[in-house]
Amino acid sequence: KTQDEIYNFSAGPCCLPKEVLKKAQEELLDWNGTGISVMEMSHRSKAFKDITGKAEKDLRTLMNIPDNYHVLFLQGGASLQYSAIPFNLLDDNKKMNYLVTGFWGAGAFRNAKKVGDVTEVIKPLETYNGCTDFSEWTIDKDAKYFHFCDNETVDGVEFHNFPYEELKDQLLVCDMSSNLCSRSVDWNRYGLVYAGAQKNVGPAGVTIVIVRDDLVGKQLDITPDVMNYKKHVDSPGHCYNTPCCWSIYMAGLNIEYMLKKGLDKIEEEAQTKSSMLYDYIDGTEGYYVNPVDPAYRSRINIPFRVKSDEKLEEKFVEEAKKEGLVQLKGHVSVGGIRASIYNAMPIEGVKKLVSFMEKFKEENP
Ligand code: PLP
Repeated sequence: KTQDEIYNFSAGPCCLPKEVLKKAQEELLDWNGTGISVMEMSHRSKAFKDITGKAEKDLRTLMNIPDNYHVLFLQGGASLQYSAIPFNLLDDNKKMNYLVTGFWGAGAFRNAKKVGDVTEVIKPLETYNGCTDFSEWTIDKDAKYFHFCDNETVDGVEFHNFPYEELKDQLLVCDMSSNLCSRSVDWNRYGLVYAGAQKNVGPAGVTIVIVRDDLVGKQLDITPDVMNYKKHVDSPGHCYNTPCCWSIYMAGLNIEYMLKKGLDKIEEEAQTKSSMLYDYIDGTEGYYVNPVDPAYRSRINIPFRVKSDEKLEEKFVEEAKKEGLVQLKGHVSVGGIRASIYNAMPIEGVKKLVSFMEKFKEENP
């Protein structure tokens, strides 16, 4: 298969638009007449500051981020960020609310417990197939903040009607690793949003932190400097230490690409692509099953089983690969199949997947 015939359904690191990769290829050896590659450039140089400055400016425009929020491009992945958050936001009040609706929310919860007292907002669900109604949530009204994951990449659970009004007295902290830049965000609802970029934004390595300015500088005394947002905010070019220059540059190219496309168009496509796949799955009378409550189904990561048969699923993944539909294996913790359809996945790729699924079903009744 040629490159143009491959559709990559990886959950991350995942596909980037071909146009973005081509631009990076063109600029690889010589960025903007400097005669050197971005990989070889000092992070203190004007050239690199221009790259980060533009990436930040374009992200602010694309996502309509208000001026009273800092945008940081950090390292360590979303895992480091969910570990750093309690160190940055807690003071003498070490109480937190954590809403766990999947694998990654559970990771954040486990790490927060090392730092303070955490209220588990909902009872642990046996399988993460949605969320419970707000009326059943346990909330510590005096907690310092409320953490949740907007889109659970492993489990395919996404919020579409988050109870913002009911939680307006809580400081909301949100993991948007796998759905940032797939729809608009009302920033005033949030204190802090973070996202590993390796889904919709860029390659692995860079993690975006968007934090309201009054929350910076409140860190615990024991916070290591590299985890302290204030150190990053106060450093020239937000570079406290060496940033992941290449990943930031690549993210910048993709943000520029998304800005040209427009967030409305991106959001519309995400809806079209995911509906196409869910409608097909639901019409197969149990041959393919997505276990998530329809009210919480992710537009981005769509896990499903094939007759709950692991052998058949192995065959599905192998045969799909031969058709150019790659990286469809589900996360190790849940098995099955997972189709991740980030912004860079064209509608054509989802159509091809649906046709393959139908053919596979007929051939393997
Ligand atoms: N949160 C979510 C929603 C994720 O999807 C991931 C990774 O896939 C993480 C956190 C962890 O990110 P990282 O591997 O960058 O630490």
